[in-house]
Amino acid sequence: MTELSDAELERYARHIVLPQVGGIGQRRLKASSIAIVGAGGIGSTAIPALAGAGVGRLTIIDDDMVDLSNLQRQPIFRESDAGQPKADVAARFVAALNSTVEVAGVRERLTADNAGALLAGHDLVLDGCDNFATRLVVGDTLTRLRIPLVSAAAVQFQGQVGLFRGWEPDKPCYRCFVGDAFDSEDCDTCADQGVLGALTATVGGFAALMALRTIVGIGEDVAGSLFFFDGLTLDWRKIRLPKDPGCRACSA
Ligand SMILES: [Zn+2]
Repeated sequence: MTELSDAELERYARHIVLPQVGGIGQRRLKASSIAIVGAGGIGSTAIPALAGAGVGRLTIIDDDMVDLSNLQRQPIFRESDAGQPKADVAARFVAALNSTVEVAGVRERLTADNAGALLAGHDLVLDGCDNFATRLVVGDTLTRLRIPLVSAAAVQFQGQVGLFRGWEPDKPCYRCFVGDAFDSEDCDTCADQGVLGALTATVGGFAALMALRTIVGIGEDVAGSLFFFDGLTLDWRKIRLPKDPGCRACSA
C-alpha cells in the first residue's frame, strides 16, 4: 500500500495518533477515491473535510454556477466566485487546501445516461444533490456498481443522512427508502422551501464523517440506517430501514 511522506505524517498527525486510524487508516484514506455529487450546502461542507483528511482522489460533479444566494451556507465559495462554475471553483479550493489530493471538477449534470461512467471506479460516493430524480439515479447506479453511497439532504430545519449498500441481501438501497414516486419530479428543493444556513454544515459534516469512517473501516456498520436531525429540537434520531422485496433496483 502507498506510503506516507514526512510531510504527510506531520499533516495527518491528529489522525495517526488515533489508535483506530493510525498509519494504516491514513494510508487507506490516501489510497481511496470519493465522488461528491453536488457542490451545494452539503457538498461544500463535506469537500473541505474530505480533502483535509487526505482522501487521495476527489471527483466533484456539479453543472451549476456559483450564485449569491449560495453564500449563506456554502463555505467554499466567495463573492468573487459568483457566476463561475461550481465544479471548477470547488476543485481549486481542494487544490489550495491540500495539494496531495488529486481532484477533478466535472461540469456536467448527472443523468441516467452518464451516471455509470462518472461514478465507476470510486470507493464511495457522497450525494448531496438537491433533487430526488438525481438521487434515485445515483442510488440505482451505485447498487449496480456495488459502491457504497452516503446520501445526505437538508431542507428547512430537517436533515437526513444514510449509508447504503443495496446490493447486499439484507441491506436496503436508496430506492427502498424513497420509492418510485419521485423519479421525474424536481420537488423538495431548498430554492422552493428554504434551508437554515448552518443546518447544511451540520448534515454535510456528519456525511463526511460517515464517509471517512467507512473508508477507514472503523465503528459500527450503519449501512441501512437513516439518521434524522431536527434543527429546531436539536435531536438526532436513528431508524433502521427495511429492504423492499419488490424494489426494482436491488431485489431482482
Ligand atoms: Zn432497493
